[in-house]
Amino acid sequence: MSEVLQVKNLKKYFTKNGKTITSVDNVSFEIEKGETLGIVGESGSGKSTLARSIARIIEPTSGKILFKDRDILSFNKKELKEYRKEVQMIFQDPYSSLNPRMRCGEIIGEPLKNLTDLNNEEIKKRVLETMKISGLSDFHYDRYPYEFSGGQRQRIGIARALIINPEIIIADEPTSALDVSIQAQIINLLEDLKKEFNLTTIFISHDLAVVEHISNKVLVMYLGKIVEIGNVEDIFNNPLHPYTKVLISSIPAKNPFEKKEKILLKGDLPSNTDIIKGCKFSSRCPYAKDICFSEEPHLEDKKNGHKVSCHFVD
Ligand code: SF4
Repeated sequence: MSEVLQVKNLKKYFTKNGKTITSVDNVSFEIEKGETLGIVGESGSGKSTLARSIARIIEPTSGKILFKDRDILSFNKKELKEYRKEVQMIFQDPYSSLNPRMRCGEIIGEPLKNLTDLNNEEIKKRVLETMKISGLSDFHYDRYPYEFSGGQRQRIGIARALIINPEIIIADEPTSALDVSIQAQIINLLEDLKKEFNLTTIFISHDLAVVEHISNKVLVMYLGKIVEIGNVEDIFNNPLHPYTKVLISSIPAKNPFEKKEKILLKGDLPSNTDIIKGCKFSSRCPYAKDICFSEEPHLEDKKNGHKVSCHFVD
């Protein structure tokens, strides 16, 4: 496998009412071709900002994002247009991400219209093929978004992302707005498409069980930082960071007769994160010692790419 995406020291700051808020803080990782990287963490951890920076929907403050060894942040207009064909997003809320005045066929064909030279007939042919792959029927072509169920709308979103043959799909909470009964169908569809087209995928979710099921590699974020990253077995069978342990403990046991201890976090995410000295997790960590409040731990490789940021993990 070869690295298709490398993120290096990425930072994103926002300024609000004269205050600077750090959303993504010095994040580095890479993804190999065909891999699925699951990104987990609470709301406000910077997952979506990171995803949107990679898609260049928002501009990072500093750092590098290398796509096939080329820094996308230095791309000119033409190069950026090419990059947009390679990286497509699937959004959380399928309804608000679809233009209510456009018909299903137009929505799915829009990337081809904007980013390729195909004529209308060629676009329609590709749209109908992609609709079929995504579990939609020909008769859906002329319907408007309000005429679809939540699951069908997410299928439209998936078809729109897929139609341009991207190298990378970024799915940002693609099932969290859907009924539980529909979620599994969408996850299965994403898995099938990933295998069929050898897609590289970034999958953001609050649902740890789904992330375990779908990912090869998992990245855990807390207040804009990576606190742990590793292959899926290491993260779920041997979590090392206290925050990861909390997240994993919240997954219901697979065996209903198994007793599983749920670790509870104290407090909420701190609002002014930039004044925290030392470890960003120190105010909520059950194991914090003096050093945690003054010295920031660094992300270190503990074994075979399993990296953790904690003073007390050997
Ligand atoms: Fe907890 Fe300290 Fe480790 Fe941070 S460095 S996770 S506060 S034990």
